[in-house]
Amino acid sequence: MKMLSHLFKVSLLSILASIAVANVPVSTLPHSSAVPGGVAVIPTGKNAINGSYKDHPILLANYQGEQYAIIGISLSTEVGEEDFTLNLPNGENVILRFQVEAKTYTEQHLTITNNRQVNPNTEDMVRINRERSEMDNAFSSWDDSLVPIFEMYPPVDGVRSSSFGLKRFFNGQARNPHSGMDIAADEGAPIYAPAPGKILATGNYFFNGNTIILDHGHGLISLYCHMNTIDVEVGALVNTGDQIGKVGQTGRVTGPHLHWSINLNNTRVDPALFLAD
Ligand SMILES: [Zn+2]
Repeated sequence: MKMLSHLFKVSLLSILASIAVANVPVSTLPHSSAVPGGVAVIPTGKNAINGSYKDHPILLANYQGEQYAIIGISLSTEVGEEDFTLNLPNGENVILRFQVEAKTYTEQHLTITNNRQVNPNTEDMVRINRERSEMDNAFSSWDDSLVPIFEMYPPVDGVRSSSFGLKRFFNGQARNPHSGMDIAADEGAPIYAPAPGKILATGNYFFNGNTIILDHGHGLISLYCHMNTIDVEVGALVNTGDQIGKVGQTGRVTGPHLHWSINLNNTRVDPALFLAD
């Protein structure tokens, strides 16, 4: 029996290791902001091989010889203590905790002239649900071959709003909070990769319009929406500053802009935390 449990532990560990190899050496860390919609940057004091938070693998980075867990906190997280698990090289698990502080997000009221984009019909809902699961799959992607860069450049020259996290009302009706940063720019303005990565998916989505999903590695994934044109193919490797598309107004919009979002451990977090100072 003892033998059996030992074997089980080993095979489980090798499965976990194949899902998420961690402790990637990095040259920068994101700004730490342990609030709903923020990113907790936590020194682990360990040398874990991988870890998880709310059933998603987490990014573990080695920065200047120390391991940090870099965890995205969802907008719906309550203030209080949160747990995450680390798997150590000796097969042991440890649970670490961090404190989520309060952050208040205000309301935003928008008027959309196409009512179907506020109250989609049955056919639209089939499409929306399919697209939601496609995007959820993409955001759950884990690529060990890419080294995440946390110091990003703004993807568009334009007016950056601080609209992340706003409680949204479309035509007076409450909808999901705003999960990205809107950057206003003219239709056709170039959109650049803010950091190196691999094009994970492209598509035309009901709400997001022409969209690119860019994988930066280890669960750090960015999203570009409402584009006029998509100028890259799935699978392409891009460098910081490479043009990936142009600003447009496809999908649910009130005017031309880029909706940019950053995902960590399949959680939408504030892109401002990743912008170089
Ligand atoms: Zn937006």
